[in-house]
Amino acid sequence: MTLRCENLAFAELAEQFGTPLYVYSQAALTDAYRAYTQAFAALNPLICYAVKANGNLSILRHFAALGCGFDIVSGGELARVLAAGGEAGKTIFSGVGKSEAEMAFALQSGVKCFNVESLPELDRLNAVAGRLGLSAPVSLRINPDVDAQTHPYISTGLKANKFGIAMQDAEAAYLHAAALPHLNVVGIDCHIGSQLTNLAPLSEACERLLMLIDKLSAAGMVLEHIDLGGGVGIVYQDESVPDLHAYAEAVQRLLGGRKLSLILEPGRSLVGNAGTLLTRVEFVKKNGDKSFVIVDAAMNDLMRPALYQAYHHIENVSPAAGEPFVADIVGPICETGDFLAQNRAIAACAGDLLAVRSAGAYAASMASNYNTRPRAAEVLVDGDRAKLIRPRETVDQLLAAEAACLHDD
Ligand SMILES: *Cc1c(COP(=O)(O)O)cnc(C)c1O
Repeated sequence: MTLRCENLAFAELAEQFGTPLYVYSQAALTDAYRAYTQAFAALNPLICYAVKANGNLSILRHFAALGCGFDIVSGGELARVLAAGGEAGKTIFSGVGKSEAEMAFALQSGVKCFNVESLPELDRLNAVAGRLGLSAPVSLRINPDVDAQTHPYISTGLKANKFGIAMQDAEAAYLHAAALPHLNVVGIDCHIGSQLTNLAPLSEACERLLMLIDKLSAAGMVLEHIDLGGGVGIVYQDESVPDLHAYAEAVQRLLGGRKLSLILEPGRSLVGNAGTLLTRVEFVKKNGDKSFVIVDAAMNDLMRPALYQAYHHIENVSPAAGEPFVADIVGPICETGDFLAQNRAIAACAGDLLAVRSAGAYAASMASNYNTRPRAAEVLVDGDRAKLIRPRETVDQLLAAEAACLHDD
């Protein structure tokens, strides 16, 4: 069987563009976005794609063309959205440590809302808006203290995390915000974690936010929107993941007759399974009983296995090369943590092409130049067309800025 992305064989893409190579299916991006708009149709939500999952300009442009908004966590990500043709008016600015310069840029660009996470951040935003003669639309990120039941590094909705405002401090924070002259309090938000495989924590968080909304409205503070964050998981291995229709039904039931518009901030579930990382086998090596498949992609291209012990499915694209054996699939980087898979059954020979699945989210966007490795090229496939959306970096590019600063004395 020939493994492909849409109508193009992985083998030919690797031939044409080299490896390591990120390959994304445009149809899969569209389908993932439509899955949300269709499931939630009755609530007509604003879907704000979380740019940090994959910020490639062509991917942002594709989502913008579908009508998608954006969730950003830095001024750099806002610049990406604007460069891609996204609308600031559909962009939510999240993040726990926004600088004054980032706030000013976002205010002047006209973002839809600032998701604020602390009292000092409210004060800073008020001061920056006042200086610019603008009013800042704000939502408060509430930490609903529910256990998202995911990996601790991507769990964000517990009291022990740095994120959000604790439930018991929320009313006081809203009163504080309402009293600041250059803020316009419009919403409430949460984001309890990533790669959630259960629906219960998501609906529990929604329920807790709604209780707070009711308390606030009884006190005369009426909010326009509720933003439930991102976090629906995807299938990497054999996880069961929340059904979007069930999620939508739960939210609709909880919202009841309240006049609130809905915002969602999915990242991983819009891009994760649209992407594959292609990598070539350099060597097969045996150390005593242990086997290693050494490939040309590494933790700098896909950090998730090293960072979270994450599982990625890996297939041999080349015609089956003998019997499978158990090996660690590792990159060339000088770190023991540099692996794409451990104790994996795989048939592979030097020269074979491997497809690392589910590499659309938190892969290219987390890539680095560690070991002075140029970042891999990215290709977006649309039917039988392959569009290069990021050329492979060159070593000259990596050295240029420092070479220009070399001093002779
Ligand atoms: C990372 C993040 C998201 C996206 O999370 P996914 O799990 O990729 O859907 C959404 N909102 C905020 C505030 C985030 O930090």
